[in-house]
Amino acid sequence: MSESATRVLAHNPSVFTGRGTNTYLVGGRDLVCIDPGPDDDRHLAAILEAADARGGGITSIVLTHSHPDHRPLALRLAGRSGATVHCFDPSAGEEHAQPLSDGDVMRSGDLELIAVHTPGHTRDHLCFFDAASRTLYSGDHILNGTTSVVHPGEGDMSDYMASLRRVQALQPLTILPGHGERVDDAGVLIEEYIAHRLEREAQVLAAAQGRPAFAPMDLVPTLYAAYPVEVYPLAAWTVQAHLDKLVRDGVIDQVDGGSDTEPPRYIAPAS
Ligand SMILES: [Zn+2]
Repeated sequence: MSESATRVLAHNPSVFTGRGTNTYLVGGRDLVCIDPGPDDDRHLAAILEAADARGGGITSIVLTHSHPDHRPLALRLAGRSGATVHCFDPSAGEEHAQPLSDGDVMRSGDLELIAVHTPGHTRDHLCFFDAASRTLYSGDHILNGTTSVVHPGEGDMSDYMASLRRVQALQPLTILPGHGERVDDAGVLIEEYIAHRLEREAQVLAAAQGRPAFAPMDLVPTLYAAYPVEVYPLAAWTVQAHLDKLVRDGVIDQVDGGSDTEPPRYIAPAS
């Protein structure tokens, strides 16, 4: 049940992680730890203490994805607890993790967590769905208070949109995100996420139309006028992810694929 999830907040607050990464402990005596978080002594101690307080031991560790604010502590937590690690991409870490695929079920006592492959933020992203309580552990696919970054190369906007519809179809009641507070009106938030991305896509297209060949950053000051300039580099990645989707959808053209140092360039037909 979602009521029984314990959240342990990691000490890594930032613009992108909000107050920090949420680590969750769920289940009865055999606890499942979702996203151990960054490799940090204080956080490791706090997770073990929270497991003790529940009167259980951690026997499984599951990872939503491999980013440095979610995965690294898995190695030491597994060593300390003897837990096995499970994730979509075992090769991205040294925990000898076992592979999880879409639809696989992690069982612990009465608890059943279904792995839901949700590529977009990263290719290896999994959400975990507790169908009994209709709780979605959403990792970085859906956040509360900060926006999920879709970084081209690592992520993909077409996949991201499809993955939002995927979790929408599960009809979760509660979302326990990788960053931010729990969400009790899950359907509303997912609807907002989808609307926000569609609106952004329309804004990106409008800003692109009628320009000579442009790079993603050329659109950022217009699209992110309300945001501090510190977010511009990340915003440019998000804009690029939208542009790549528009290219794939046949709406605009890419005129230059870019390189390690130069961003790709695009051109949009006038409306
Ligand atoms: Zn992430």
